Amino acid sequence: MQRVGFVGWRGMVGSVLLERMRAEGDFKGFEPIFFTTSNVGGAPPSVGLDAPPLADAGDLEALSSLDVIVSCQGGDYTTATHGRLRERGWRGAWIDAASTLRMRDDAVIILDPVNRDVIDRAIGSGTRDFIGGNCTVSLMLMVMAGPIRAGMVEWISSMTYQAASGAGARNMQELVRQMQVIGERAGALASDPAASALALDGNVQQTLTSEAYPVREFGAPLAASLIPWIDKPVADGQTREEWKGHVEANKILALSPEVPIDGLCVRVGAMRCHSQALTIKLRGEVPLPEVEDAIRASNQWAKVIPNEPDATKRELTPVTVAGTLDVKIGRLHTMRMGKDHVAAFTVGDQLLWGAAEPLRRMLQLWLSR
Ligand code: NAP
Repeated sequence: MQRVGFVGWRGMVGSVLLERMRAEGDFKGFEPIFFTTSNVGGAPPSVGLDAPPLADAGDLEALSSLDVIVSCQGGDYTTATHGRLRERGWRGAWIDAASTLRMRDDAVIILDPVNRDVIDRAIGSGTRDFIGGNCTVSLMLMVMAGPIRAGMVEWISSMTYQAASGAGARNMQELVRQMQVIGERAGALASDPAASALALDGNVQQTLTSEAYPVREFGAPLAASLIPWIDKPVADGQTREEWKGHVEANKILALSPEVPIDGLCVRVGAMRCHSQALTIKLRGEVPLPEVEDAIRASNQWAKVIPNEPDATKRELTPVTVAGTLDVKIGRLHTMRMGKDHVAAFTVGDQLLWGAAEPLRRMLQLWLSR
């Protein structure tokens, strides 16, 4: 029986992965071993299969005995562990949510509803490193793979609105703590109809700029504000998050020639689900219904929402998409710049298709091959 190690199962991506695996009845036919960086010997999560106490995620000997390692622990862990395991001659499958290995020639970025062909070719040629894509990139391709593969798209500009949970468990706690502090300090000003809006605004502004306001994780207020910077600076004024848009999307779909993809990535106070406003430059004038059909052809989870106020508010928001596998796209209309420019807004659960789901499906694919 194959032995599968899970590292990072307690984090945001890891817990969603386990939740999805339980829901799909995936915990069967293999022996699970759970690892930790903080609680060696602790109780493993309950998954309906016997598992030993938590093992040390730094124990290369234990990791080398596995057939598959699924890591949701983060890039630092991958950097510290993966190379050393391979140097010891470990030939198992490494399935990872972190970005560290994504752009390596010997790794494939996994998003099987849109690139099963690329994954199959990689397995056939001996690839053993299967890496989940950046969350916004994967979510964009879940709705845009159809039009891109149909040759309709010249370039895409993507302006993102990324949720706090995209930064991990501690950041989610900080967002809620920020909301809590704002509410506590505003007190009656928030509910008293006689209170002046200016007094409330002044109170909140004072809270947001006070020394005691909790900003350790994000480095700036997020609740009642936003942060137009995600990850490190790279060349040409981009952030690393923005750089990933072009390089990862083109690698995932193995596009040649490449389709330019660029934009700004912004952290907003949504709890879960990443949204993106897209400007899609078409290769010529294509009637909107044809673009919509191509989007629907991307895969069964791509859902087009009518460009109407009620449908948009009811269906095209993070809160209505959270916890579902549907990736929705709406607000579709041609733009003033010309009939070959289409505007769209898309939202998907970054913890599902943007993180845990491609890993879950890759594990199934690998175990059943
Ligand atoms: P995370 O929530 O910060 O979890 C990572 C690890 O932090 C956990 O496995 C846990 O390790 C430790 N940890 C410390 N405090 C914790 C707490 N209060 N609750 C839970 N775990 C805590 O990170 P993540 O967001 O899952 O991201 C993991 C990797 O996936 C990263 O490389 C990230 O870039 C990538 N990714 C994330 C998303 C997303 O939407 N979050 C999307 C795509 C890719 P121990 O149990 O060993 O202590």
